[in-house]
Amino acid sequence: MLTVSDELYEAICRRTSTFDGRVYIGIVSTKIVCFPSCRSRQPKRENIRAYSTLLEATQDGFRPCKRCRPEQPKGESPAAELFRNVEKIMTSRFEEPLTLQWMAQELYISPTHLQRTIKEFTGLSPAEHLTRIRMARAQELLLAGSLPIATIAKQVGFRSVSHFTVRFQRFFNVSPALYRRARHDGNG
Ligand SMILES: [Zn+2]
Repeated sequence: MLTVSDELYEAICRRTSTFDGRVYIGIVSTKIVCFPSCRSRQPKRENIRAYSTLLEATQDGFRPCKRCRPEQPKGESPAAELFRNVEKIMTSRFEEPLTLQWMAQELYISPTHLQRTIKEFTGLSPAEHLTRIRMARAQELLLAGSLPIATIAKQVGFRSVSHFTVRFQRFFNVSPALYRRARHDGNG
């Protein structure tokens, strides 16, 4: 049996799927075993027993929940699901100063785990991956209209336009202004 950590209990309360597939929770009051993200009930912490396999839980007398069906393998691996959640944060909140620490907290995992997951799926460090997302968005914004470069810099998460320009130049080998001009000229 596993300890019900604060992180696990948080995931159960918030019904996030971070631990699904890695942890099965038996609810003492109902004798049912669930994925931690199960939406059917909000168990009291003292009524939760955590197991690393479903078998251990059923051997302890818990029956698989009819709602979350812990006996059926999830279509997606826990790591893939975690990465999908990472992407959701990174691609929707890149204008914020996203730190590894903050994102790890949002996802109820350790910064090391987050770093490893991003590396596994992208081959990049979290900072590099985030830069890639920001640069792709900057590219779109530069081509989409006539927003001032300072505004674009801010919208993709840079506090200063000079920092943004340096980073953009390093990434694409061309300054944002030149990039926009060249593309516009090229398109007639
Ligand atoms: Zn359930």
